[in-house]
Amino acid sequence: MSFEYAPAPESRAIVDIKPSHGLFINGEFVEPTDGTMFKSVNPATEEVLSEVAAAGPHDVDRAVTAARAAYEKVWGRMPGATRAKYLYRIARIIAERSRELAVLESIDNGKPIRESRDVDIPLASAHFFYYAGWADKLEHAGFGPDPRPLGVAAQVIPWNFPMLMLAWKIAPALAAGNTVVLKPAETTPLTALLFAEICQQAGLPAGVVNIVTGAGETGRALVEHQGVDKVAFTGSTEVGRAIARSVAGTPKRVTLELGGKAANIVFEDAPIDQAIEGIVNGIFFNQGHVCCAGSRLLVQESIAEPVLEALRRRMSQLRVGDPLDKNTDVGAINSAAQLERIRELSEVGAAEGAEAWSPACDLPDRGYWFRPTLFTGVSQAHRIAREEIFGPVLSVLTFRTPAEAVEKANNTPYGLSAGVWTEKGSRILAIADQLRAGVVWANTFNKFDPTSPFGGYKESGYGREGGRHGLEAYLAH
Ligand code: NAD
Ligand code: MN
Repeated sequence: MSFEYAPAPESRAIVDIKPSHGLFINGEFVEPTDGTMFKSVNPATEEVLSEVAAAGPHDVDRAVTAARAAYEKVWGRMPGATRAKYLYRIARIIAERSRELAVLESIDNGKPIRESRDVDIPLASAHFFYYAGWADKLEHAGFGPDPRPLGVAAQVIPWNFPMLMLAWKIAPALAAGNTVVLKPAETTPLTALLFAEICQQAGLPAGVVNIVTGAGETGRALVEHQGVDKVAFTGSTEVGRAIARSVAGTPKRVTLELGGKAANIVFEDAPIDQAIEGIVNGIFFNQGHVCCAGSRLLVQESIAEPVLEALRRRMSQLRVGDPLDKNTDVGAINSAAQLERIRELSEVGAAEGAEAWSPACDLPDRGYWFRPTLFTGVSQAHRIAREEIFGPVLSVLTFRTPAEAVEKANNTPYGLSAGVWTEKGSRILAIADQLRAGVVWANTFNKFDPTSPFGGYKESGYGREGGRHGLEAYLAH
């Protein structure tokens, strides 16, 4: 049985969403000159939240020009210790305004307030704190005695962790002495625009951070602009490939953080209750809109039945609904388009012979929703075992021996993350050593820390973000 919960909604009175937003160029909000306007909606209600500018090539050029001037005249010449003061100030303001940022993030993205409040926003602040500490110590970072910034960084981010991805991109770039033009995703531009206000509040010199909103065309104009020295992208493998092609043969440096199809491997000696929590967190955290989500559960055959039984029981207790309710575990799917992609792949899964199961749960009438779903009877050839679904859908496969687990886990074009659940420390080390994944979690999943590098192998991209390693992408050495 499960308990009934009284609604516990977080008030949205703390955010004041302007009906219309310009672009943030050279320290000010400006009207677009060659762009159109588009709307950002709340995916939980389909309510229009605000009108936002879609920057055209001329506006992108203005932003890059502002970033270049700020780099050459101010930021690129500033002592690291002075840059650090600005970064600390930004970190502190994010922390001070965390409730406002969390509510706005949940409204624009659809993610539960529990996650934006406890994960996204504190981690975003922590990234600025962490990289502030490096700004005056770059010569000790292991990249030579005199590492130099690259110049202007073009940064394009996705909608799944809007504020956190912004922090992952902007904090190391600024710490290393670069200036940036960042384009948030078209369905989640609002926290990046609030961050622009935070830059003003911090007194950051004009042009050091520029925010251009828009969709794919704006992103393309930005990464293809001749005046950028560095391109950093997080998003789909398809767009990542197009970007890799477009920068080939130019002096631009590039880092790509793309998709994943992570294996979460549960051995028969694993602590089952903990593993169940890790499996649930691995795939249902953030509605499964997570590049490193544990979307393939590999469970040892001898314990498959009790694990699945416990998993179904646990899934039946997930509360799906209002993202602003503090009891909500699974919020809204970010967009109608993403919901369509999830539905399509789930239908393919059923058509290919896998068996779908979802807990009974009421879904709101409006907005974009998808029930947490479990597929059993999945084989490695199934599309739901190979393609990134980017939604709350878990594919279950079984294995008999550790060697088979490793083989199945590595049987993917991706290589971003993996999880290992076992009581044996020696097995953790032996298995982790054989997994072709940038991050391997042991007896936990989806743990993030600014000091720890993150990134993939193969089609999951290249380059590392986070930690000392994350500085390398923004330094010439
Ligand atoms: P996408 O790659 O199209 O969008 C990511 C970002 O890139 C957005 O800001 C978008 O405006 C921008 N963009 C789009 N086309 C561009 C171009 N040609 N040049 C430069 N920038 C461009 O991803 P999506 O359509 O939002 O999602 C599609 C799929 O991508 C998802 O189902 C998921 O599998 C995957 N995805 C992965 C991540 C991740 O964190 N690795 C994030 C989002 C989406
Ligand atoms: Mn939105």
